[in-house]
Amino acid sequence: ETAYYEDRFVEPGARVVPLEDRGHQFGDGIYEVIRVYNGVPFLLDEHLARLLVSADAIDLELPYSIAEIRAICEKSLERAQLPDAEIYIQVTRGSSPRAHAFPENVRGILMVAVKHARTVSEEKRQSGVPVMSIEENRWKFCYIKSLNLLPNVLAKEKAKNYQCHEAVYVDEGIVKEGSSSNIFAVKDGVMYTYPPEPSILHGISRQFVIDLALRLGMEVKEEKKSLSFFKSADELFLTSTTMEILAVSSFDDTDYSERRPITRKLAAEFRAEVERRTT
Ligand code: PMP
Repeated sequence: ETAYYEDRFVEPGARVVPLEDRGHQFGDGIYEVIRVYNGVPFLLDEHLARLLVSADAIDLELPYSIAEIRAICEKSLERAQLPDAEIYIQVTRGSSPRAHAFPENVRGILMVAVKHARTVSEEKRQSGVPVMSIEENRWKFCYIKSLNLLPNVLAKEKAKNYQCHEAVYVDEGIVKEGSSSNIFAVKDGVMYTYPPEPSILHGISRQFVIDLALRLGMEVKEEKKSLSFFKSADELFLTSTTMEILAVSSFDDTDYSERRPITRKLAAEFRAEVERRTT
């Protein structure tokens, strides 16, 4: 494992974060998580592009260019020598005496960490995972991948207490996304997911899976669909960098068939594409 903080490599366990880093005092920062397969970062450019979108959205000037951040990621991977890893990138608005408004002439702080990948067990991949609905309680700009994750943390903890893998936000009856994933429904051979509006995170895996489905000749509709529509669907699955494509076995009290031809086909294609791009 490796860690980079501000302008240098540090010991992964080192205590280097200043007391007044705005990241932990205000959640004033942004992040990305990138999966590494066979030592190769997957969809790195897409993640870096989203980092820039998040930075622009909160008027945060990145302390390094995207090209420099890419180089630091590659250097970190070289040092870590982990084939199955994830890269965590975080940028905060820097360290400054606590005051809400932006500090002046303070440089943002970059953190890059390479860790072992968190993976979903093969058993869960086969069985699918239970998920539960939860009322939307976040702000309107969830397309920004900000460090303010308290609602998501509470949602995931609630899911865990109900033996669920994910809590899925429902907003006035419309299914949006999970606390750390996007959600898709498949009905009569058509794939549905919430449109890429500012109120959800535009998942990199979400877009990758949409493109994959289109290439396979499937019809994909980015539309707002109700909880009852989702419950009447043939198949549901989650997407995220760490979950990849993960079948849903139940949503609240609705069970889904264990025969999931489309989810299985997409998941197989996802894996094949990973192999193609990382070996
Ligand atoms: N929605 C939310 C709220 C998330 O936190 C995540 C994971 N970062 C996702 C969706 C999935 O995004 P990605 O596919 O880019 O990992």
